[in-house]
Amino acid sequence: MLSVEEARQQMLATIPVLPSEKRALLSCVGYVLAEALHATENIPPFDNSAMDGYAVRAADVKGASEENPAVLSVVETIAAGYAPTKQVARGQAARIMTGAMMPEGADAVVMQEVTQQAAGEVMIFESVDETDNVRFTGESVKQGEQVMGKGKHLRPPEISMLASLNRAEVAVHRKPTVAIVSTGDELTPLGEPLEPGKIRDSNRYGLYAQVQEAGGIPIDIGIAPDDEAETERIFRAALAESDALITSGGVSVGEHDVVKSVLNKLGKINFWRVAMKPGKPQAYGIADGKPIFGLPGNPVSSLVVFELFVRPALLKMAGHTVLLRPTFKATLAESVTNRDGRVNYMRAILTEAHGQYTAETTGPQGSGILHSLVLANGLITIPAGVTLAAGETVFASFLAE
Ligand code: AMP
Ligand code: MG
Repeated sequence: MLSVEEARQQMLATIPVLPSEKRALLSCVGYVLAEALHATENIPPFDNSAMDGYAVRAADVKGASEENPAVLSVVETIAAGYAPTKQVARGQAARIMTGAMMPEGADAVVMQEVTQQAAGEVMIFESVDETDNVRFTGESVKQGEQVMGKGKHLRPPEISMLASLNRAEVAVHRKPTVAIVSTGDELTPLGEPLEPGKIRDSNRYGLYAQVQEAGGIPIDIGIAPDDEAETERIFRAALAESDALITSGGVSVGEHDVVKSVLNKLGKINFWRVAMKPGKPQAYGIADGKPIFGLPGNPVSSLVVFELFVRPALLKMAGHTVLLRPTFKATLAESVTNRDGRVNYMRAILTEAHGQYTAETTGPQGSGILHSLVLANGLITIPAGVTLAAGETVFASFLAE
């Protein structure tokens, strides 16, 4: 059996990164940059004041104090958005607002709070050094400089930076469209009455939400019955209109588990028994260059396998380089036992106090008990075949908030 890390590494090595597209800046948050970005302009584009105050020659206010203020004549007021019309000569100052262009002759700004203006003159009660409170041309970004490399995840600060570089459009990696199919004759869509022996199809909805949360574009295909020909038709049509396919159910050894033989017809698929609980039986492969994930039918298994395998794969397709959620250590609040020969991803409530995390499991952990995930905000990994006492340490990671 493969370990989670081995299986994930093998899988990720085969995942394609999607090509780029041009997008309008306002729809780029969450995307990954597909071009290196060079500044075509300086930021700021001109020397300007970092304060409301007076643009002066530092030499003119040397030694100024409360008792012995420097007195300068005020030549004009420069507001943000306007260019100065006068030079500042010896003995002169210009009233200046934050972000306004520095006048020629001045080399520093005295903040308004240490001044007093009256009748065309200003008294200055503190000295400044040259360059004090001045923001210089290009001090944030120099023209020609590379500001962001390919692969940069575009968050709000990057969007703001792109705007300040006058980029109304940028090249980003496409986000994957992901077709989702549930399989099983027992599944009933929402809104229809439950006949004897039937259950609600919950996986399709959970997977849809997980694809959204991972930044993919879900396509709801519906339910495939436990019939080989019909399942094949549905899977092929789903794959034709998407970048990746996720199926749930039908990958274990049951008599009506037709998904395996259908996936075998679609492409090169590995049927993996990954050493993890929940979620041992699962399938992964590529057909027509598109990843196919055959997830287990049990609701908790489906959600956890998505989290550990499909989520990083979708992130890679979208151009991300950080694919896994951070893991950290947490202290067990209770004793836990894993009798299984596989790592158990237990669902847990992680709480933080003074920089230390504590983990408490969410009650019954059966792979059909969705509540174990509804109550949880994270997963903890319990190694194969161990009992850990309260106070011992485990690795933990958060699930989607
Ligand atoms: P299977 O892998 O198809 O044998 O399914 C394993 C278990 O998960 C069975 O109890 C199924 O009824 C259940 N199951 C399969 N698909 C779904 C689904 N889409 N929603 C809820 N439960 C499911
Ligand atoms: Mg089934």
